[in-house]
This record gives sequence, C-alpha cells and structure tokens, in this order.
Amino acid sequence: ATITEDYTRTYIQSQHLHEASKALLPGGVTHMARAFDPFPLYIDRCQGAHKWDIDDNCYIDYWMRHGAMLLGHAHPAIVEAVQAQVSRGTHVGGNTRAEMDWARLIMDLVPCAEAVKFTSSGTEATLLALRAARTYTGKSQIIKFEGHFHGWHDYVACGVTPPYDTPMSAGIPEAVQQSVILTPFNNAEAFTAALESSDDIAAVILEPGGSFDDTVPSDPAFLAHVRRETARRGVVLIFDEVVTGFRYAVGGCQEYFDIIPDLTTLAKVMAGGLNGGAVVGRQSIMDIFDPKQDGDWRRYQMVPHPGTFNANPLSAAAGVAALQLIATGEPTKRAQEMTSLLIEGINDVLKRRSVPGCAYGRASIFKTFIGAEAPPITRYDFSQVDRDTQILIQGPPHASELRQGMLLNGVDLMRVAGFVSAAHTSDIIDTTIQAFDQTIVRMQN
Ligand code: PLP
Repeated sequence: ATITEDYTRTYIQSQHLHEASKALLPGGVTHMARAFDPFPLYIDRCQGAHKWDIDDNCYIDYWMRHGAMLLGHAHPAIVEAVQAQVSRGTHVGGNTRAEMDWARLIMDLVPCAEAVKFTSSGTEATLLALRAARTYTGKSQIIKFEGHFHGWHDYVACGVTPPYDTPMSAGIPEAVQQSVILTPFNNAEAFTAALESSDDIAAVILEPGGSFDDTVPSDPAFLAHVRRETARRGVVLIFDEVVTGFRYAVGGCQEYFDIIPDLTTLAKVMAGGLNGGAVVGRQSIMDIFDPKQDGDWRRYQMVPHPGTFNANPLSAAAGVAALQLIATGEPTKRAQEMTSLLIEGINDVLKRRSVPGCAYGRASIFKTFIGAEAPPITRYDFSQVDRDTQILIQGPPHASELRQGMLLNGVDLMRVAGFVSAAHTSDIIDTTIQAFDQTIVRMQN
C-alpha cells in the first residue's frame, strides 16, 4: 500500500469528521495551513511536546500551536494562571494590573520596546504598525519583501507566495497593491533602489529571521544595510517578530543580530498560548497611540485603537506566566539545543540513506526539504504546476508524503517545518529522528 492509502485507512474518525465539517466550515478548515490532502487530522488534546488525535493516536508535536508554545502545551504555570483568572472574569471591561505587568515584562525583554500597544493577533499588530508608521512619517507607501509573511490583512497579502506580483488572496484593492513596493530579500542593491524609487515611503516591514518563517534565512549584513538606509532616510523599520520573538534570543532577532528596529510586532509566544499580539517600539512613535482627552486625531496626528479583546485578562495572565519563565533564558536556550540535535539527526539520516535534501534552521525553527537544494536557499520558490490541471501548487516536492509518513510514525510536522519547544527532550528528539528514518525508508520503497 502507498503511504496515502495507509493514511486514509488509519485515520477513519478524522476522515468522517472532515466530511461532516465541510457542511459547517468552508472547505472544512479554519486556517488555510490546516487544509491537508487527503484530509487533516482532528486533535483532541495536547500536553508538553505531545498531542493526541480523536482516535487517541499520540504524536510528537512540531506545530506547537503555529509556533506559540515555546514552553510546550499546557505548561502547569500557565494552566494555573489562566484557571485563577477565569473564575475572576474573562473580561473586566476596564484596565488591569495584569496588562501593566505584561507590558513591563515585554519592555524588559525586547530591546526596542519603550512602550507597548496590545492587539489580539499578529495580523492586527502588523496592520497597526503600518498605520502608525504612516501617521508618524506622513507618508503612505510601504516596502515589503518577496516571500515575507505578516498575516492576512490587505497590505501584507501582497508578495507572499510566488508569483510575487500577485497577492496571496483575491479581493485586495488595486490601490492597496500599488501602495506596497515589493523587493527581493537579502539583496542590498535592489533594496536601495526600492527606497530611492519614491519619496513617499513610510515603512519597511520584514521577517528578520528570513522569508516565510525563515525558509530563506536572513543575511545579517543585509539586515544591517536595511537598518542603516532606513535610518538615513527617516523611514520606519518594522521587525515582524511574531515568530522570532523570544525564540532567537529572549529579546528576539533584534537581540540576536544586535540590530534595533523602530517598531516590532509580537504575538504567539508573547501570549503564552492564548490569543494576543502587540506593537512595541520607540517612544516617539508609540506616542501616537495616546488617545488624548478629546480623541481628535486630526489635531494630534494620533491613531485611535479600539479592540474588545486587547490585553484581555486571560491572555494577560497566560502572557505574564509565560514571559516570567522565558525571562530566565532557559526555555529559549533549551529549545534551541533540541533543534540543533534534531537538524543534525535528520541530516544524518538523509546522508545515510543517500536521499538528496537538507534540514536547516536557526533558533528553534527548522525546515526539512527532500529533493531540494541544500542551503543557502536564496528564494522561496517551490511552486510547481500540476500537469493535468495547470494549477499552481505551492510547496516543496514530497511535502505531503513526508507529512503523512511522519504522522503514521507518530510525528506531526508543520508540513516540512516545525517549531521546537522547551518541552522537547533529547529522547523525544531521538524518537523523531527514528520516525524520520522509517518514513524515508518507506518513501524510498
Ligand atoms: N507575522 C508573522 C511572521 C507570522 O508568522 C504570522 C502568523 O503566522 C503573523 C504575522 C500573523 O499572526 P496571527 O496569525 O496571530 O494573525
């Protein structure tokens, strides 16, 4: 039997649920990355580095809630903090001490953070940061890099997946597309040319770890170039550290590379596994969020920012509990050590089994490509056209087979990538490497 035939036979309940779900949710999924052929699995619960599906099959988890669970699932300190808050009210309709504690921790840990504006998600954070930059500079265009992902709002839907001249979604107004200047990543000359192409540029936004969750790793010299050239021209530099925050270093990429942006967007790890995001940065820019007494944005050049769930008490409780542990430096370090072991183990298997491919990654984020070039990968362009339908399929070769095979062997990869947590032990990494070996052998047959 093929891997896909085995997969279909094994996960009967998930298959049934997915069929039923299609009548409720468009396509039966709630996040486009959770769509999976022939059908996605339905998860019942998570704990530490593991998750269980509704058939009670156990997996080592590398989705880790899209990268949010640096401490692992259901960490006791977070469970306790959230439980203590939930009976005191999930929303108090007023200000709280917890939001101050949360902001103070973020400011202590993230180098550029001189003030904090909470949002409910990373997408909201990048939208708000761009608006803040426009307000601060009085300019309207943004520079964005090809392949960089910053959530799903209109501005950042441009230039995410190949072909980069087409937004990743329908419904993006032409006027919005024209306000976004796209340029290739890690290319200093092209970037300078983009900066010089207009005198109406408010901001540059980028994933400092690299394009598409670090698939094309950033060149530190390029980041330094971007910092220098934006500072020289008064263009606001935004590091989107929604994924890299607290992972590259406790202070994120800005600490790791020692390059300080003007604004930073945060989410995921910051909220301890609940929903939450933030824009943080230089006081002079952050001041535009101050909702002066009369709220007259025309007079003060301010950005009013409502949002029912901004810094909601449950997220604040989880965020404070998580960041107190992360502040010790241990979780970030441990997750990185485990990632190095995993990458080394996967590359050993590929070599031993004479399979072309590579595993790589920085911090606690890794990629595994089979049949793809080894690093340095310079451009995220694994697009293929299906010969029958002529439809563009995004994604690297063998990605689906690899993920199905790994699931059958008890490991949930995030397609070809993954996030490692501080709850992943060296035994868990060894088991993952064995599962990878078994999957590769199976794929060879
Ligand atoms: N920015 C980056 C770099 C991300 O990876 C993501 C989500 O994966 C976002 C922004 C959007 O965050 P959210 O999913 O919380 O809206």
